[in-house]
Amino acid sequence: MSSAILSELQKALGESVSLITDPSITPAYSRDQAPFAHSEPPLAVVIAREIETISKLLAFASAHKIPIVTRGAGSGLAGGANSTADSIVLSLEKMNSILEIDTKNLIARVQAGVINLDLDKAASAHGLAYLPDPASREWSTIGGNVATNAGGMCCVKYGVTSQHVRAMTVVLANGEIVKLGSATKKAVTTLDLASLMIGSEGTLGIIVEITVGLAPRPKNPSTLIATFATITEAARASTELLTFGPSMLEIVDSTTIQAVESWKSLGFESAGSVLILQVDDGTDLNPAVKLCQTMGAIDAMFSDDPADAADLIALRKLAYPALERMGMTLLDDVAVPLTKIADLVLEVEEIAKRNNLTIAVFGHAGDGNLHPTIVFPHGDDEAAKRAAKAFSEIVEAAQSMGGTTSGEHGVGSIKRELAAKEISPKVRELQLQIKHLFDPKNILNPDKKLI
Ligand SMILES: Cc1cc2nc3c(=O)[nH]c(=O)nc-3n(C[C@H](O)[C@H](O)[C@H](O)COP(=O)(O)OP(=O)(O)OC[C@H]3O[C@@H](n4cnc5c(N)ncnc54)[C@H](O)[C@@H]3O)c2cc1C
Repeated sequence: MSSAILSELQKALGESVSLITDPSITPAYSRDQAPFAHSEPPLAVVIAREIETISKLLAFASAHKIPIVTRGAGSGLAGGANSTADSIVLSLEKMNSILEIDTKNLIARVQAGVINLDLDKAASAHGLAYLPDPASREWSTIGGNVATNAGGMCCVKYGVTSQHVRAMTVVLANGEIVKLGSATKKAVTTLDLASLMIGSEGTLGIIVEITVGLAPRPKNPSTLIATFATITEAARASTELLTFGPSMLEIVDSTTIQAVESWKSLGFESAGSVLILQVDDGTDLNPAVKLCQTMGAIDAMFSDDPADAADLIALRKLAYPALERMGMTLLDDVAVPLTKIADLVLEVEEIAKRNNLTIAVFGHAGDGNLHPTIVFPHGDDEAAKRAAKAFSEIVEAAQSMGGTTSGEHGVGSIKRELAAKEISPKVRELQLQIKHLFDPKNILNPDKKLI
């Protein structure tokens, strides 16, 4: 694109909006956290502070067919916010105001760039909570969470982001501004276009303002930890434990345990698998301990003391950092039916052997959403190729078990070909027709998510 067009764009946006083209700055906006995903520094970066700026930018981009890559915090793990050399990155990081916390209607209205944890802290001042809790909640944005339909540990009880979104303001590809959804808890008046935006990864519209539901703050959790000799026993026990209404139910395999133990010595080195469960409604966990013992646990115990909770969940919290210490990591994200969790972990062990790699598995047992994490030496190109192959094989294994390509991180640019294997030609055609309806010139995050 010529510099003449960029100065025309600057005119359209107004002099108060900075159009960043400095090559020492633009690369910092060119990618998210996914290793291997292709990215190029964009032509320019626009850091929006007002909806009108976004509207003007999109009207201009539509007229000139300029790709727009929307960015929240860039914490994504699918290459969804990665830019190409012909694109403009639209950053919403400065649209970070909490506009309203309505304690009577139990809702909050926020700009898209509000950090997830900031909203929860603000709600907490009123005894309320914003529940969706991706592990990145200290820095990911509500807009990014909605655009990826982010999950987290408490989703086993409270559901993923979509279950907390009521309404939103969206800037369409041509710059028009629309309001979708309703602030009410129940609403069936229109086709649910807000739901179409949730998880659309920047391909259908720019989400600029969001109304979410808040909940009374859960009680301090009781935490149970159980060790098993095998992943099969732990996975079987995990489905039975769902009857206790857990607000967290995580599983960790032996490779993950060894990675953490070699770093922190938590005392689990002889376990083949560990389950960690929390309840936040005062449920008595004595019967859950008994159930674990009946299901073959080597050891099972729980504590109601909130001070103990951090120690009891340390193994799960340290899983990813422990693996990162061992080398380069490639974090996969698949979901399988609950009864297939052990099968997937065993298949991942085979994939690891076949490709001569270390692959650890941990994740959300209560949702069947697992994160097989491939570890390989930094700077080893051959191992990196084997890792990429193993990454695909894990997804294919999940698909063959009735699972899905991504449980929470999204498709972005790294899983498009893999996702294609899961989608019938008719569904693909319907998706593309919807894309065309919202974005006829294909300027919104082209070549992402939709195949
Ligand atoms: C250490 C770590 C832990 C993580 N843990 C979790 C987890 O537990 N659960 C989970 O689900 N994810 C997790 N993630 C992934 C990531 O944090 C989420 O996908 C998050 O929702 C992305 O938010 P973001 O603001 O960083 O969005 P970005 O990464 O900037 O963007 C993500 C996608 O959304 C689009 N987008 C962003 N904002 C908007 C908007 N306002 N309108 C339209 N499109 C938009 C982008 O174009 C891109 O396609 C983790 C990531 C890391 C690095």
